[in-house]
Amino acid sequence: MKLLEGKITLITGATRGIGRAIATHFAQEGATVAFTYRSSSAKADSLVAEIEAVGGTAKAYQADAGDMGATQAVIDDVLKTFGRIDAIVNNAGITQDNLLLRMNEEQWSQVLETNLNSVFFTTKVALRAMLKQRSGSFINISSVVGLQGNAGQANYAASKAGMIGFTKSVAREVGSRGIRANVVAPGFIATEMTEALPEKELATWLEGIPLKRAGTPEDVAHLCAFLASDRSTYITGQVFNVDGGMVMA
Ligand code: NAP
Repeated sequence: MKLLEGKITLITGATRGIGRAIATHFAQEGATVAFTYRSSSAKADSLVAEIEAVGGTAKAYQADAGDMGATQAVIDDVLKTFGRIDAIVNNAGITQDNLLLRMNEEQWSQVLETNLNSVFFTTKVALRAMLKQRSGSFINISSVVGLQGNAGQANYAASKAGMIGFTKSVAREVGSRGIRANVVAPGFIATEMTEALPEKELATWLEGIPLKRAGTPEDVAHLCAFLASDRSTYITGQVFNVDGGMVMA
């Protein structure tokens, strides 16, 4: 039997990068994949086609992760269409980098809304159904930047650190009902988010990685599949780095 056979999953922000790898890997492992995106409809269609081509089931939703009403509509439809919801990967995330003295309120709010408010929304909305099921797994994609901070990313670091406190609170609040919540903290992963970095900065990042390479989106997807599966039913409230050893506690 495949790892995620019969599981109904929702992944936010899955048209490219880490989210897309999670969606395709979950489908390969037998999960039904509902996913959201903000703007790339063509990429969303191609992801649905890619999953269906190998016999999987996928449904795309255009929904801004930072919008509570849109999130409610997505989760209502997932429950109506597929009957339950077993795992949610809160992956949608953005950066709006700037040094603090130059950072404006909009850059602060946009990053907090997309990266952190979104996690509150999906969790709050899906919890009712998961409480009835007495099972569910939340997987929240943070970042090593949320653990260590990063100059020029105070907004992003705050959002990613906030996710960690939030996840641990959820794990404590609903653990007795069989619902789990964990954080995955990627390090330097090769996606569109990181490809814009100048050569010099890239070299500095690689210098600090014991495994001496950037991670792939699949490196992150494999851990997410384990956390969504019944192989991890005694694991909750934890932070797992996927970073080639960049950060060691
Ligand atoms: P990416 O390549 O920029 O992809 C982001 C995805 O999120 C896209 O599918 C995008 O869809 C979607 N998205 C953005 N804003 C959204 C919104 N408001 N509502 C719904 N969907 C939205 O990013 P990535 O590198 O794969 O990163 C994925 C996650 O991992 C993020 O949370 C990021 O912070 C985290 N992370 C990444 C790295 C890294 O090195 N890449 C490291 C640590 C953590 P549209 O194009 O349609 O907007």
